Amino acid sequence: MNTLSHLELWFVTGSQHLYGPTALEKVARNSREVAEALGASDRIPTDVVFKTVGETPEEIRKICLEANAAPTCVGLIIWCHTFSPGKMWIGGLGALRKPFLHLHTQFHRDLPWSEIDMDYMNLHQAAHGDREFGFICTRMRIERKVVAGHWQDPEVQERIGMWARAACGFFTMQGAKICRIGDNMREVSVTEGDKVAAEACFGYSVNGYGVGDLVEFVDGASESEVDVLCAVYQEEYAVAPDLLPGGERHSSLRDGARIELGLRAFLEDKGAAGFTTTFEDLHGLKQLPGLAVQRLMNEGYGFGAEGDWKSAALLRAMKVMALGLDDGTSFMEDYTYHLHPEGVKTLGAHMLEICPSIAAGKPSLEVHPLGIGGKEDPARLVFDVAAGPAINATVVDLGNRFRLIVNDVDVVAPDEPLPKLPVARAVWKPRPDFKTSAVSWIQAGGSHHPIFSKALTAEILEDFATIAGIEMLHIDGASTVSAIRKELRSNEVYYQDRGGASSGR
Ligand code: MN
Repeated sequence: MNTLSHLELWFVTGSQHLYGPTALEKVARNSREVAEALGASDRIPTDVVFKTVGETPEEIRKICLEANAAPTCVGLIIWCHTFSPGKMWIGGLGALRKPFLHLHTQFHRDLPWSEIDMDYMNLHQAAHGDREFGFICTRMRIERKVVAGHWQDPEVQERIGMWARAACGFFTMQGAKICRIGDNMREVSVTEGDKVAAEACFGYSVNGYGVGDLVEFVDGASESEVDVLCAVYQEEYAVAPDLLPGGERHSSLRDGARIELGLRAFLEDKGAAGFTTTFEDLHGLKQLPGLAVQRLMNEGYGFGAEGDWKSAALLRAMKVMALGLDDGTSFMEDYTYHLHPEGVKTLGAHMLEICPSIAAGKPSLEVHPLGIGGKEDPARLVFDVAAGPAINATVVDLGNRFRLIVNDVDVVAPDEPLPKLPVARAVWKPRPDFKTSAVSWIQAGGSHHPIFSKALTAEILEDFATIAGIEMLHIDGASTVSAIRKELRSNEVYYQDRGGASSGR
């Protein structure tokens, strides 16, 4: 899993018969050129395939039904080059189960001021054709993304690309399996939720397994496989001297490697896209899986600690959305604060399980006591995260719906080195400031398990929320507590009977 180029956006143009065959041929030719250019753009990660100029309700309905059934179609781009009466779209859009983006563009960027005549006006009518299409979408209460601007504009392509990423994330959740190994950390609330509602809304299923099911696979790892994996560790990481062959703690590293081999084999056996563990339920495992979880996240698996299946699923979706982008995405936890008046900072980490895709430099591989869980000392990768913009995102189950909360943050360098902290960690300043961010996040019921990403933006997650039909609350540089609280209260009404669209948009 390292590219989205095998997935397709179908490009569908709206028109009608009244223009006559000559004009409609030009519409088709122009549409094909736009679609090919978007497909070739490195800002758009999927292929873009021109499908048809829809001229009748029957044709439009037919292409929508084909899109529903197409196994590689993640969504549609719809553009009305000419005027396309909105009623022709009711049947098709009513049946469409794939998300769509409405591209409000025009074939020519510039008006040919001295040449323009009524033939030109007749052909280049998106300025009003797309407004007619917009009305019928709004009249049908269909959530969609609208992008306006010339199709060669890099910013337009960038925004289509972001939406394409969100569509791919949602698409790959359909039928995805999340394995919950052990149950929840006992008595914890935010990691619980309605798995049936989640499957209807997001498309993924969550099923439980006993730790013994995993232990069978761990015990099945051979000594030679463990040798090979320990050699890989030495290549990829700065391995602490006591973990090297002959070192005092080499056997702990071998135990960690055995857990990785077993966990990977277990997940492959189940066809899983993500998984959860919990330190309270490790019967038969020597260590809490740390290194193994870190490396599997780095390969693209979703993960949530302490039974947090919603975070595992969100991480998996975000890993897919981020494919091919620089920088990484990880499970995270708001751990502890630096509340200094001249610059409040959050230290994010977890007991062990932070993905090395966000590491600055080569991680160091170490074994230390955990201090909780009562197991042997686990192996883990230790690293810092480079400065730069990032987001924290979480999905919570409010009982009648899911809410996605996103906060923009800025990763900063730690004030000093952290030589005694044996876990991967990130230090960030939330936007707009610590107090506004923390109060807003807490008022919104946001979990302590955000998915942290330096690869994705809030806009991609907003597109994802629109596609999934769920609420999204964005805490950004302009947020105020008062406005956020008003939004939370009005959302309580707006989303009362909208539990997330199982229609797929
Ligand atoms: Mn945790």
